[in-house]
Amino acid sequence: MASRARPRRAPRARPVPPARDPAPVPPPRIVRVDLGEAPHAHIVCRNCGRIQGIELTELDRHLLEELASRHPDGWSVDGIAYSATGACRRCREGPAAG
Ligand SMILES: [Zn+2]
Repeated sequence: MASRARPRRAPRARPVPPARDPAPVPPPRIVRVDLGEAPHAHIVCRNCGRIQGIELTELDRHLLEELASRHPDGWSVDGIAYSATGACRRCREGPAAG
């Protein structure tokens, strides 16, 4: 018995949208902060209050300065500190953990 199915057509190719130009890269901003000390970072234990420093790379410092440069009009910046919170090892694992 002969099949009456219609012959399959090749799927119609969808038009390819024109390539977009990449988003323009903004020019580097001039960071206007006058720091008494280099940006620094630390983590604070929410349970016992222990504070421990977090090492920053040059890129980290640059990013923190960039962030601080976005301060509201009328403000000045004289220090930058990144602060994370969490639980220290001693609070998580007990006094034997140090
Ligand atoms: Zn703790």
